[in-house]
Amino acid sequence: MSAKPEFIEAAKAGNVLARKCTKCNDLHLATVYFCKKCGSKEFEDSILKGTGKVVTYTIMTVPPAGFEDLSPYAWVVMELGDYDLRISGFLANIQKPGDLPIGAAVKVVDFDDRGIVLEKL
Ligand SMILES: [Zn+2]
Repeated sequence: MSAKPEFIEAAKAGNVLARKCTKCNDLHLATVYFCKKCGSKEFEDSILKGTGKVVTYTIMTVPPAGFEDLSPYAWVVMELGDYDLRISGFLANIQKPGDLPIGAAVKVVDFDDRGIVLEKL
């Protein structure tokens, strides 16, 4: 996953950096060249609180090299707070589906070589 330094910095502080359309306020996560909603090309940075709910996830039993101590973990898709935005990240020590119910509250806590790191709230 490649991410911009500003995005990584925001994640380390528990936030998610999004781009907000200055015309219609629609939020975009990735760098976009025009607003998907209104077509405007003007955006401003918007720092969103990195908390939300689990939408779906996959339990990974074979970790990438260097992350063996965190195995098994889940690759989680979460929906951010009140925003219609989804991000995905890693959540350590998830062994079975019962460990992480769909809808569980999670938050962004860090960003490392794997990408966004999440924790249960
Ligand atoms: Zn727009």
